[in-house]
Amino acid sequence: MNPLLVVGSVAFDTLHFHDASHPRVLGGSATYGALAASHFVPVRMVGVVGKDFPDSAVQMLKERKVDLSGLEVVDGETFHWEGRYVEDLSSRETIRTDLNVFADFRPKIPDAFQATPYVMLGNIGPDLQLEVLEQITRPKLVVADTMNLWIDIKHNELCNLLKRVDVLILNDEEARQLSGRHNLLHAGRELQAMGPRTVVIKKGEHGAMLMRDDQLPFCMPALPLESVVDPTGAGDSFAGAFLGYLARHDDITDAAMRRAVVHGSVVASFCVEGVSINRLHAASDDAITERSQTLRNLVQF
Ligand code: AMP
Repeated sequence: MNPLLVVGSVAFDTLHFHDASHPRVLGGSATYGALAASHFVPVRMVGVVGKDFPDSAVQMLKERKVDLSGLEVVDGETFHWEGRYVEDLSSRETIRTDLNVFADFRPKIPDAFQATPYVMLGNIGPDLQLEVLEQITRPKLVVADTMNLWIDIKHNELCNLLKRVDVLILNDEEARQLSGRHNLLHAGRELQAMGPRTVVIKKGEHGAMLMRDDQLPFCMPALPLESVVDPTGAGDSFAGAFLGYLARHDDITDAAMRRAVVHGSVVASFCVEGVSINRLHAASDDAITERSQTLRNLVQF
């Protein structure tokens, strides 16, 4: 089966909700992306953690067949992000970001990982994402995720990166911010003109929109859920599962990308049902298949 390379942050997150707080739970774009992708293919992960990173998390990732030979363990503390969600979970604010060992992180792609055909550039600075591309032989597909912070402070690096990625995945707010266009169709086209042939705009509980070449967009609603507990990592889970699905089938045609959006949405739906990675980790492959079918039925008419 085609392996997939994930590079991104590995973190402790402190999460505040209106009725509860969860200090220092496992998080990070690479963690969510790797776990989501591991439902489909073997995953190779590159990132950095401090000496405080627990063995239990390492074991949990290894049990999911995530190859951690690219995870550096260095002196110091693991990256820590703290955020607070509004009561209806529709938005969040960052309270603090402690870069810790991430401050000096320069991704080093092990020799054995350099020819990985499917690559997910999880949310880290676009300069670091570019450094990853410099170290690998031309993969079959490169998917990049980003966030508002980088659009604000590393705009030029992000524009350079976009020239070299095949698929850009971002949320509606970020798409508007980066393109300067409010209408999402216009925003998507503008982003495609910046480099990526394919743009996926996530709209949270309203689903996702896939834009490829100059075709009409493909729109998929999110699965309506009775209980949403913690949206952290939904975007990374979507991206990991989207790419994992494509890697598993070794297929990057339009039809496969549409199915990949469905699987990205399904895996993200598990992610938001539990705090941190708990529900994402516990979801069985059968449960993912069943929910994909439910989503399929939901949009059939
Ligand atoms: P998402 O909810 O998909 O946007 O991803 C949330 C994850 O992003 C959290 O687990 C954080 O640890 C991680 N994160 C937050 N800020 C940053 C940052 N500046 N760089 C890298 N990862 C971050």
